[in-house]
Amino acid sequence: MESLTASAVLPNVDGVYNNALPQVSAVVVSHVHQDHLGLAHHVHPSIPVYATEGTWALHDVLQVFVPKPTAVVTRRVLPKRQPVHFGSLAVTAIPVDHSAPDAVALLVEAGGKRLLYSGDLRTHGRKSYLHSDLIRNLAGSINVLLLEGTTIGRINSEPVTEESLEGDLLALLAQQKHLALIFCSSQNLDRLVTIYRAVKRTRKLMVIDLYTAYTLEQLRCLSNHLPQWSWPEVRVVPWGYQQQRLVEAGHSAFLENTKRHWIGWEVMKERKRDIVLLMRSNRKIADFERELGEEVSETQVIWSMWEGYWERDQCVRPFCEKHTIARSKLHTSGHAPLAELQRIAEGLKPELVVPIHTERAEEFSQYFACVRVLADGEVLRI
Ligand SMILES: [Zn+2]
Repeated sequence: MESLTASAVLPNVDGVYNNALPQVSAVVVSHVHQDHLGLAHHVHPSIPVYATEGTWALHDVLQVFVPKPTAVVTRRVLPKRQPVHFGSLAVTAIPVDHSAPDAVALLVEAGGKRLLYSGDLRTHGRKSYLHSDLIRNLAGSINVLLLEGTTIGRINSEPVTEESLEGDLLALLAQQKHLALIFCSSQNLDRLVTIYRAVKRTRKLMVIDLYTAYTLEQLRCLSNHLPQWSWPEVRVVPWGYQQQRLVEAGHSAFLENTKRHWIGWEVMKERKRDIVLLMRSNRKIADFERELGEEVSETQVIWSMWEGYWERDQCVRPFCEKHTIARSKLHTSGHAPLAELQRIAEGLKPELVVPIHTERAEEFSQYFACVRVLADGEVLRI
């Protein structure tokens, strides 16, 4: 932890971590992504960490499957759309559209002033309607907007919507000759819904691994529309290493339940044109060479993640190169591009915009009115 604070990976705030006397009432986290919640286990155990129900559900799923669990000790469920009080501060979680489920922005109110922390957000996912709620409810009432700027400095064309990816996938699956391998995050529920809908429309089978099956089951609390392993169009491929993790974590009953929807290599090879297999980039890809032999070059590889991950990929990219497979892309960002960020800021009309979550804070004033760039640790009096 000392090295993490020294390098400012952990913000250097007194009285937050488990190496000093606690001096804060709570830590409130906007969503489950690792650059937000990933180091929260360093928070002092007597300080509660608040996050939404879906965030904790995913946090718990990760504890089952990651090699080194990092559970947050003192956790509280952050309700949505109702204030939680910490002394004279009130914090209200406001749902936003992002690639992590149950993500929120945070409205902080005290002494008649209002600060809005955007968290990570966008307006082109399946919950894009949430941004108009945000603007309608808060327009003109925000003193300070802490606005994320992940995409500032990237090529900022209008993003494709998550819904339009469904049509793109239908077109890809129409050309399917052998297994279709889709590489995507199991935490990106919008994407899983997109894939499920395309699979259902083409009367194929969506094959998920145990991690994805377990994730979706744990997130049923969020929606009845999330595809589940037990649905007729869904099968489970029970990779051994994931079975082992579930057993070790005491979830053998879940494992047993899923058995009636398990699918093996034999059936996958037999129904090769109908199998849409969700994959993650790891050494499992070598199994395909062993199982499919020369036919492996007929598989369809669909990269459904950020392009930056492709550039540094060590498994799928060499696999495609070796077998001369032209991968297809199926992705839209979890973050708002500049034009969306500007629409949000113009809608909210804050007195001050403070850049956060960006490598290009100094560029904000080119694109937004009333920008104030703050250094880490600098105090802003409202
Ligand atoms: Zn995020």
